Amino acid sequence: METETRRLAKINGYSNEMKEQPNPVHQPKTEMRARTNKAPQPDSVPVLVNRHHPWTESAEDTDSRLAPVSAFPDIRALDSNIRLDRTCLQRLDALLDAVSGKNGIVVVSGYRDLAEQTEIYYSSLRENGAPYTAKFVALPGCSEHHTGLAVDVGSAAGGLDFIAPEFPDDGVCGAFKARAAEFGFVQRYKAHKEHLTGISCEPWHFRYVGAPHAAIMEERDLCLEEYVEILRQERAKAGHGEASHGN
Ligand SMILES: [Zn+2]
Repeated sequence: METETRRLAKINGYSNEMKEQPNPVHQPKTEMRARTNKAPQPDSVPVLVNRHHPWTESAEDTDSRLAPVSAFPDIRALDSNIRLDRTCLQRLDALLDAVSGKNGIVVVSGYRDLAEQTEIYYSSLRENGAPYTAKFVALPGCSEHHTGLAVDVGSAAGGLDFIAPEFPDDGVCGAFKARAAEFGFVQRYKAHKEHLTGISCEPWHFRYVGAPHAAIMEERDLCLEEYVEILRQERAKAGHGEASHGN
C-alpha cells in the first residue's frame, strides 16, 4: 500500500507524503511535536490551486488517481458517487476511525470536474447571489475540488447544505479538526487568512497535503499560499528552484 501511496504522491511532480509515517493513530503527541520542528521540505511541494493558480493536470491523469468514497462502506457520504484521491481517501478513513467519526460526520463533496464546478458556480449565482458565491464558491478551473485532494465534511446532526455544511468546533467535528493535521489534512480556508486565500472561512473544507506539511502549517499558522511561498524560497536557496535558472 505504501508503494501505491508513493507512486500516487509523485504524480505530476508534486508530493503529498514523501516520507514513511509512523502509525499516526498511535503516535504520542510529544513525538509529533518534535517532528514538526523540522524545516519545511522543499522537495515535496503540495499543489496550490486558487484564483491565481488554476488546476492544470489533465482530466485523465486526475481520474486515474481517484477512488469512490463507497470503497469504504462505513464512511457516510451525501452521494455514493463522490470520489477522492486514493491517498486522501485512505487518510480520511483513518482520521474518521481515530475520532470515532463515522456516524457523526458525513462526506458532502469531494472531486469535482470542470463541468460540475461550472454548474455549482452558476447555480449558486442564481440562488445565492454574487456576493455569497464570491465568498464560498471557487471559479470553475480554480477549485481545489478539481484535485481530488479536498473534501467537504458536515455534521450528520446539522444541516447538510451542499455549499456550506455545518461543521461545529465541538463534539466529533471538533475532534476531527483537532487531529486532522496528524493525518495530513488542514482546514484550508480560515477567517484570518481570507485576504490570502480569496475564500471566506470554511470550517467544513479540508485539504490533504500530507502529514509532514500539515503539521508544519498548523504549528506555524500558515495557509497554503504562505507555505508554498516559503517552500519556493527554500528551493531557490538550495539552487534547484525556478530562481536558479538565472533568466
Ligand atoms: Zn470545499
